[in-house]
Parts: sequence; structure tokens; C-alpha cells
Amino acid sequence: MTVATTGLSSAEAARRLHDDGPNELPQARRRHPLLLLVEQLVHFFALMLWAAAVLAYIAGMPALAVAIAVVVVLNGAFAFAQEYRADRAAQRLRDLMPLRATVHRDGHLRQIDASELVAGDELLLEPGARVCADGEVLTAAGLAVDESMLTGESVPTRPVAGQQVYAGTYVTEGEAAVLVTATGGHTKLAGIAALTQEAKPPRSPLATQLHKVVVVVAVLAVVMGAVFFGIAVLLGLPLAEGFLFAIGVTVALVPEGLLPTVTLSLARAAQNMAARNALVRKLDAVETLGATTFICTDKTGTLTRNEMSVVHVWTTRGEVTVHGTGYEPTATVSGSPQAIEQVRELASSAKRCSPVAHVLHQDDRWLPVGDPMEVALHVLAARVGVDNPSADSVRFPFDPRRRRSSIVDPDGVHVTGAPETVLPLCVSAQGAEDAIAALAQRGLRVLAVARRPARPGDEESWQHAEQDLELLGLVGLQDPPRDDVKEAIASCRSAGIRIAMITGDHPSTARAIAEQVGLLGPDRLVVEGAALPADPDELGALLDHDGVVVARVTPADKLRIAMALQRRGHVVAMTGDGVNDGPALRAADVGIAMGSSGTDVAREAADLVLLDDHFGTIVAAVEQGRATFANIRRFLTYHLTDNVAELTPFVVWALSGGSIPLAITVLQVLALDIGTDLLPALALGAEPPNKHTMRGKLRTGSLVDGSLLRRAFGVLGPAEALMSMLAFLIVLVAGGWRLGEAPDAALLATASGTAFAAIVFGQLANAYACRSVSRPVWRTGLRGNRLLLWAVAFELAVLVVFLFVPPLPELLGGHGPSALGWALAAATVPVVVLADAAVKGVLARRLRSLHPAQRPLTR
Ligand code: ADP
Ligand code: MG
Repeated sequence: MTVATTGLSSAEAARRLHDDGPNELPQARRRHPLLLLVEQLVHFFALMLWAAAVLAYIAGMPALAVAIAVVVVLNGAFAFAQEYRADRAAQRLRDLMPLRATVHRDGHLRQIDASELVAGDELLLEPGARVCADGEVLTAAGLAVDESMLTGESVPTRPVAGQQVYAGTYVTEGEAAVLVTATGGHTKLAGIAALTQEAKPPRSPLATQLHKVVVVVAVLAVVMGAVFFGIAVLLGLPLAEGFLFAIGVTVALVPEGLLPTVTLSLARAAQNMAARNALVRKLDAVETLGATTFICTDKTGTLTRNEMSVVHVWTTRGEVTVHGTGYEPTATVSGSPQAIEQVRELASSAKRCSPVAHVLHQDDRWLPVGDPMEVALHVLAARVGVDNPSADSVRFPFDPRRRRSSIVDPDGVHVTGAPETVLPLCVSAQGAEDAIAALAQRGLRVLAVARRPARPGDEESWQHAEQDLELLGLVGLQDPPRDDVKEAIASCRSAGIRIAMITGDHPSTARAIAEQVGLLGPDRLVVEGAALPADPDELGALLDHDGVVVARVTPADKLRIAMALQRRGHVVAMTGDGVNDGPALRAADVGIAMGSSGTDVAREAADLVLLDDHFGTIVAAVEQGRATFANIRRFLTYHLTDNVAELTPFVVWALSGGSIPLAITVLQVLALDIGTDLLPALALGAEPPNKHTMRGKLRTGSLVDGSLLRRAFGVLGPAEALMSMLAFLIVLVAGGWRLGEAPDAALLATASGTAFAAIVFGQLANAYACRSVSRPVWRTGLRGNRLLLWAVAFELAVLVVFLFVPPLPELLGGHGPSALGWALAAATVPVVVLADAAVKGVLARRLRSLHPAQRPLTR
């Protein structure tokens, strides 16, 4: 492929960019915020509450009707604000998704932002690239394009010079130079996209699960409400009052603020992840990440730095070592003169095989452009003083199944690739096997370089060209491990997460690197892709250990590995960067793509994009995912506990046949749900990961499980309810009330205020108790969540307002407590804390009998 033109000048490109606008699809028409707000006011719960308000009004309770309306509106506004923020966060994440384009500008190859592409640009396409504008093919080498997103046709097309390629399609094979003819809104894709933009994205699995929980609870609430209405009527209460009860019970149980709080906490997690270079492409991937039990990771670039340099060359005429820094063009090259001469031949051939990669000298630094391994070959050429002129050539680019690349030019055929795919093509490869073993054992990546003089017909196909070669030698490339990979791996281990290295590299190289970063498991298992069992159950059984290395894998192997591990019940995270990694990334529970080195195809198939390609970033994301899962459970527990305390007065009243008065009013229930409870729940949703987050196995599955329900309904809720009822009764009795009497109105209001204060104090303690499922409150580090401190301060301030600022006490039916009342209410704090600690203590003793890795996650 030759590139004769110099491309546009940057000045001209800038002018065109100004005239035609950026190369971006026109923004999807966003729904008007007002519409979104209205939506929050007419959904299922809102409608239920509206109905309740209307009924309350008809029943002659205007204050209640107004209060319920206020609840719906406040709650809707709150939900709207949260969803709006979540939506904005998702939008910002999309904007961070890197999409780069390689173009000719000012006679040089440049990487630019795809949005800066203009008509007239000469765009270079490589395997895995997303075509980001419409254009006409100038030259093509083995080009195959997947147009399925435009046409639905799954067989790739093979455009040749003069034919069109379209934005939105992918290069699956080969390379091309394309003259851009249309960008942004003028592309064929834009026309189609306009039609599909309106579609609303489907609800995520997490949202579906939560929605189910919420609907079940709501239906339960209505049923309970009806039951209480029946009891009230049976007890001879007037219909209006019975109705009041029914509404109280229903409203008490409906978890109004839950869904938006979940959405917001997922969005916040996604933002935290983005700050640590992990972009989630769908919000519920946050939760799946947290549930990950098996990570299949690449080697190159993920565990290693992807900073390649040739340190050793074996040739048929002797060996050479190279000592250099980074990608600098000078280095100490030691070896015999014949050997060095042979290395020149080798470097010249190797360099030709990768014409796009090069080194950029900028601000006194030498920066790699393109695949770092190919760049390393260019650097080797510079270091031994080779500078071949570019000539007319035909390329057969690298593909991960062939594992080599070649080029045919007037000097002959040049081949570079994995030794076991190159050596069989050579007429002789004496001594190479031993050399490969020696290099690979040092953890070096080994490439073989071969060539031969040109023959007619070589240009036609790689099958023709790549045969009867003369082996020039082997290069050993060093790619040092990343710094903090060791800690990241250790942290996975303590979290009970298994890790496997899945690499296209040589088994010995892979093993050496696995050993260096501490990944290799105790059974030191290294398997080659070709040797993997065909049966998925056998495959799963073979790989389901920690620290397995699978070398020389193909993208198809990756897909099988992901599915086999899933069959064994694992939640699999799989990394990928190549053109053909799409299926494996989609099949895995969490597909992870490389943001800086991977292909566009992989990025768009992935759930998570690592901006820095770093393994540690995966682990950080898993940690954040776990923390978020825990947070959702935290505020679920918090809400449910409150429900117990709110419902108990109604139950006590009903069971006593009305002889014990109602401790709190319906309006007080509403005040708790949307007044005092709101901020602590939010603050619990923002709890950062702590040192316990990555300890122990995560129990996956349902958000709401037995242990959560037991905690809320069996421990925290009853403690809180008991204390508030006790406070209520003691204040009544101290005021002269006797069982069966109707209390004096002022006394009842003071007692009610006391019960209300007790619940608020209980919720305060509850919020801190919910921070950990295993540690008592005093061992959670009280300042670990600053937001919660503020939220609790606010909660207390709101309590004071509700009890003392007219007309609220009259309206809600609860007056400021006496000194005795305050003492009783405050006593709820130690009681809830101690009850919680006692149960945690019992659980901890039971846990200690388990092996650490088997322990369920404790925080
Ligand atoms: P990894 O899992 O380490 O990213 P790859 O699938 O990228 O492995 O590469 C597999 C093998 O293919 C490498 O070990 C190397 O021998 C060979 N190879 C990779 N890239 C190139 C290239 N650009 N040209 C020639 N050979 C290559
Ligand atoms: Mg690779």
C-alpha cells in the first residue's frame, strides 16, 4: 500500500472544520426536563398517593390531603433531580470515550480526535477501527468491512479502490487509505441514527430487580392498609378515621425514595470509577463489576507497561545485546561485527513490516506512535543505523490468528511474527528452538524475522508470499511489569476473586511474566490455547483455579473460556483489545476493553473501558462496584428499619383494640419518610470503599436477601420500635394516663412528639449501624463518612423544626417533649447500637469458624 499524497495542511483542515462543523452525530433530541419532571409525578406510586390525597380530601381531612400532595411533589422533584444528575453523569462518561483517527496532515501521519476529521482528509484504517466518516477508498490491502450496523448484513464487504466505506462500520481485516467525503450529520449513519434516536433504552437488570422489590412492597402496603381499615371499622371507629389509618399504614410502608437513590448511587459510583480511569458504559455494569468472581486478563499492556524494547537479538551469525533507554534512537549495542551486520538486515526487514508505527521526537522526548512492539522494531533499526527508504509495497497486516505480518516490496518478502508461525515457513531454522526457549524463559516476548527475494505472484496473497523464507533471527523484547500489579492481584485474592492470564504470547514468556507479577498459582498451570479441552465442562474444571496461565490463545478460545467459567457459576470479567475480541467481551459478564491501546470494536463491545489499560484499574473498579452494592443494601436496610418503627404504633393500636392510643400520626410518618430520613439514606449511598471491601467472598444474587431482612425486621426495626413505644407510654403514664382511657389532647401531643423524636434518634443510630454488617458502630470509624455526619446534623435540625416551629407541631400532631421525653428518646441511640452490636457479635463468632476465603463479605 502506498500513500502518495501529503494530506491536508492543518490550516486548511481547521478552516474546513470551522465551515462544516465537528465530525459528530447530531445530538439525540433529549426529552425536555419539564417532561421528565412530570413523569416523576405520574408514575405508579405517585398516582397511588394522588388517589390517597383525593380520598383524604373527600373524607374531610384537607390537611392530610395537602400533606400527601406535598410529599408527592417533593418526592418527584427529588427523584427528578437525582435522575437528571445520573443522566448528566452518563452523558459525561460517553464524552470521555476515546475515538481517535489516524490521518495524513501536513505530510505526516497524525492521530487526531475523530471529531476533528474533515472532508478531504486522508484517513488510514486498520483492523478493529471504527470508520468514523464516509469516504472513498484510495488504496486497500485485504480490506474487509463489517457493515451490519448500517445494512444488517453480517457478511463483511470487501471494498476496493474507488468504492465507498461508511461511518459507523468497522474494519474487520486489512488496511486502507480513505479520502473522507462526508462527516458528522452528512454521513449515511446520521440519516439512520435520526430514526433510531427516539427509542428509550431498555431498563437494566438491576433496575428491574429493584422495581420488582418496590412493587411487591407497595402492594403489600396497600393490602396492609386495607386490613387496618377493616380492623378500624370492626373496632367501631368512624369510617373517616379508619381511612386515616389505612393511609397511614400504606404510606408508612411505601419506599418512595428508593429507586432514585439507587440510580444516583450507581451514577456516583460510575463517576468515581471514571476518576480512576475506568469508564462504565452502562450504569448497571457497576453492580456486575462488584459481583465479579473471576478475572481473565491480558498480559501485554494490562499487567505489563506495554513499553517495549528489543534487549536481545539472536541471529544465525551470533547474538547481540542492546542497552538503551525508552524509545531513544541511540543505545549500546554489543556483539560481534558479523552479528551486528546481520541484526541490521533483520531490523530492516522487521521495520518494513510495520510501516505505520514510528517514533515522534517532541519536546526532547521520544514518543511511540502506533503498536509499541512495532515501534520497538523501528527503534532497533535506528539503534543499529538502518534507515530504509519507503518503496512501493503490498502488505499483509498482522492478524491474531496468523500471528505474523508481512510485506512484499522490490527487495523481496519480509515476515515478522510469532516464532512458531514463522519458523515452519523457513527453509532452515537451526538452533532457533533453543534460542526461543532461552529468551522466553527470561520473560521476553520473542519475534522471528525472515525474508527472501521477490518472486512473481508474491503480491497476490500471503499464502503465496509467506513461504521458502530465510530466517534472519529472533528478537527478544522486554516489557516490564507495571508497578502496582502485585498489590492489585493480592487484593483480588483476599476478595476471593480468581485471576487467569489469557494471552496470545508464548507460554514460557507468559509464565515468566505471571511469576514476576505474582499471578502464577500454586499449581503453576500453563496451558496452550490449542490444548484446551473441547468439552465446556472439562474446560471449566481445568481453568477454575486461581492463577492459571493460558498462552497462545485465539479470540475464539477466549469466548469459550468465558462461557465455560460462567457455566461453573462464575461472574466473569474478561479483557480484550483486538478486532475479534468482540464476541468474548459481549459474552463475559463484564467485558473490559483497553482505552489507550485497544481497537474501537473492542471498546464498543465492552461494559468497561480502561483509559490507562492498567490491571490495577480493573481491581479498583471491582472494589467500587462492591462498595456500591454494599451501599444499596445499606440504605435498603435503613429504609426497611424505619418502616418497622412507623408501622408498630398502628399494630399496637389495633392489637390493643384501640385502648392504647396511636403513638404517631400519619403526617408524622410522612415527615419521617421525606424529612428526616432523606439525607442519611443518601449519605449511606455515598459510603466510600473501605479496607473491608475487598475482604472475603461476595455473596452474589439478590440485593434483598434473608440476612438483610433479618437485620431490618428482626433486630434494628424492633429495637427502634420498642424504644419509641416505651417512650410514648412512659410519657403518657407519667402524665396521668391509664390504660383504656382517652388521653388528654395536650398530653397525647407531647407523647407523640416524644415517640417521633425517639424514632428520629433511632434512625440516627441505625444509619451508623448500617455502615457495616459485621462491626459494631464504635468500630466503624465514625468519621469515615463525612457526608453522614452532615446528614445526621441536618436530621436533628429538621427534628427540632418539626417539633417547635409553628404551625408544624399542630399540623403533625407532635409537640416538643419534656426533659424526661428527651432522655427517653435519646436512650434509643444506645439501645439500637447495643442490639445491633450484640447480633453482630454472635454472627462474628459463627463466621470465625469458617476459612477466611469462604467467609461472606463483611463490611
Ligand atoms: P497479547 O495477548 O500478548 O496481547 P497478541 O495476540 O497481541 O498477544 O500477540 C500474539 C503474538 O503475535 C505475539 O506474541 C507476537 O508473537 C505476535 N505479534 C503480535 N503483534 C504483532 C505484530 N504487529 N507483528 C507481528 N507479530 C505480532
Ligand atoms: Mg495484544
